[in-house]
Amino acid sequence: MIQVDKLNKSFGDLHVLKDIDMTVKESDVVCLIGASGSGKSTLLRCLNFLELKDSGIITFEGKQVEKETHDLNEVRQKVGMVFQHFHLFPHKTVIENVMEAPIYVKKLSKNQAEKEALALLEKVGLSDKKNVYPSKLSGGQKQRVAIARALAMKPDIMLFDEPTSALDPELVGEVLTTMKELAEEGMTMIVVTHEMGFAREVADWAVYMHDGKIVEVGHPEELFNNPKEQRTKNFLDSVL
Ligand code: ATP
Ligand code: MG
Repeated sequence: MIQVDKLNKSFGDLHVLKDIDMTVKESDVVCLIGASGSGKSTLLRCLNFLELKDSGIITFEGKQVEKETHDLNEVRQKVGMVFQHFHLFPHKTVIENVMEAPIYVKKLSKNQAEKEALALLEKVGLSDKKNVYPSKLSGGQKQRVAIARALAMKPDIMLFDEPTSALDPELVGEVLTTMKELAEEGMTMIVVTHEMGFAREVADWAVYMHDGKIVEVGHPEELFNNPKEQRTKNFLDSVL
């Protein structure tokens, strides 16, 4: 599905991603953990081509993606992304938020886009909020709209960057439930999260990043209970 070989990315003198190798197969759910500044968001942004790599190879669905040979906007449509801070359009209603990209990017008819948006709002449990503006929603509801909006482009993989870390604790569960359902339907997902319960229950494997490198990869249970590397151990001690 998506494969990364020797990916490197710097911002000026700051070498943020160092020889990252990773292979995510179809329907894999991968949890990415690591301290602040370790490069987790930058890795997701490279996979979505929001940031361009300096070197290395990104293979998406069997094809090596390069900015010279690919329309990155087209690839981006296949890679859904959900951020910590929702990024909904404030002047559009819930359903308009979900319909926007299918209409303007995929050139879907308004009718078709509306039909699909409604089904997605149903799926995330928000069809009763379809005509409401985002400012009237709770954080958990906003995030579920953001998930529906990303799904509206029918992505092949979904990237989640700390989707619950801006939420009040009582709202975290509803978003994790939506993500879990998505995983159960077979969506390929990479999730940056420190929700270890979610990682244990849903992830097929987990990755620990430190200082721009992948330090350890393993089944979540194994990685959390029996980390092989001292750095992983130290990190887990600090968050668990
Ligand atoms: P957090 O857990 O705090 O979200 P992270 O693991 O997601 O951290 P990144 O956001 O990927 O870390 O950042 C990695 C490093 O790259 C940090 O030192 C950050 O300051 C730096 N960085 C990220 N984006 C940029 C940018 N656009 N320009 C310059 N430096 C950046
Ligand atoms: Mg981050």
